[in-house]
Amino acid sequence: MKIIDVKTFLMNAGRPGAKFWASDGSFGPEGDYSNNLRGARHWLFVKIYTDEGITGIGECSGWPKVIDTAIHDLKSLLIGEDPTHIERLNQKMMIAMMGHGLLGTVGGGAMTGIDMALWDIKGKALNVPVWNLLGGKVRDRIRIYAHANAPEVALSCKKRGITAVKCGGVSNPVQKIAALREAIGAEMDLMIDMHGPPWMTPADAARLARALEPYNLMWIEDPIAPENLDGYKRIRDAAHVPLAAGERMATIFGLRDLIEQDLIDVAQPDTGRAGGITQMKKIAAMAEAHHIMMAPHSGSLGPVAEYAALHVLASIPNALILERIEDDWDGRAKTVIPHPQQKDGYLTVPDAPGLGVDIDEAFVAKFPATNNVAVPIGEESNSYAEGTYREHVYVQTRFKRGQYFKAGE
Ligand SMILES: [Mg+2]
Repeated sequence: MKIIDVKTFLMNAGRPGAKFWASDGSFGPEGDYSNNLRGARHWLFVKIYTDEGITGIGECSGWPKVIDTAIHDLKSLLIGEDPTHIERLNQKMMIAMMGHGLLGTVGGGAMTGIDMALWDIKGKALNVPVWNLLGGKVRDRIRIYAHANAPEVALSCKKRGITAVKCGGVSNPVQKIAALREAIGAEMDLMIDMHGPPWMTPADAARLARALEPYNLMWIEDPIAPENLDGYKRIRDAAHVPLAAGERMATIFGLRDLIEQDLIDVAQPDTGRAGGITQMKKIAAMAEAHHIMMAPHSGSLGPVAEYAALHVLASIPNALILERIEDDWDGRAKTVIPHPQQKDGYLTVPDAPGLGVDIDEAFVAKFPATNNVAVPIGEESNSYAEGTYREHVYVQTRFKRGQYFKAGE
């Protein structure tokens, strides 16, 4: 079998005005933050064609519009190759990109879409699901968590059988978590995402982690910038709350320090940009050796990468939970065939050959690409507010401390 063509499908996933990045289509009372990325989200799918008529589908995140170009650059390396030699093709792509610098999530994203499509082809050629190629199933279904920033959204998730929710903690994190915990009770799992920079110093993050100890969190995510390894060590030494990070890193080399130095309890590589199913398996094995669990990031991902995550999580022992945004945009379900439905807070691991999914090309074509960076739009786009996220700089003077801590906390 030989690769004869590689095509990409880039779509704008979320029309202006659509609510997204929150379960229930709502961000709750602090809804203004949800709107500042409107129109920027894209999904990029890759299709690889073979001379035997078998095709494979993959997906890439990590700046899809740029990755689209990278994939067309990599295409010449793939044409004529046997798609079943996946590791060899991965190595070939890494060597080709080496001269451009470290892989990062753009190179990792390009490799991801191609790698995913290669696994899909291999599964179809052998008439087995991808999880079978990865060592078989440890489990038949994957637990998912949803986003909820307000008690009413969390309660709605609970009603639908979801057993874990995560909130964004850019402001008033302790009060937010206290309200959520009170609403959902002790049994549901709860997490908070601090989104890394530029919000907190390690000292503030350590203090916050201590303040959050009583709420029994499954994790605090990106309490500070993931590049700040010494800062993570300080937070770990100061508080007994599990830490999670890794969504901005790609490949085993990107996550190596967080894992090897035991700075996190939960690794969150993004299934669309960490380097593909091949790299996800390797990252999971590295994590396993450190008793670190896997909870793949899915914040801006589309539905093909979700399938890839299901196959990976089915096959590894240290699968914790999968991030899932099921109702952010009504086009999500129409983009792929079939669209998985969560039941009782779980997704069923697919049994069809390959990944078990394909895109609806006609539907995807209805949403052409537009701008693809997450800049604020609307009334506030030109606003500047020192000490808030509207300061729009990566390294900034810190938030007004009152946004994090009330007297006595
Ligand atoms: Mg995150």
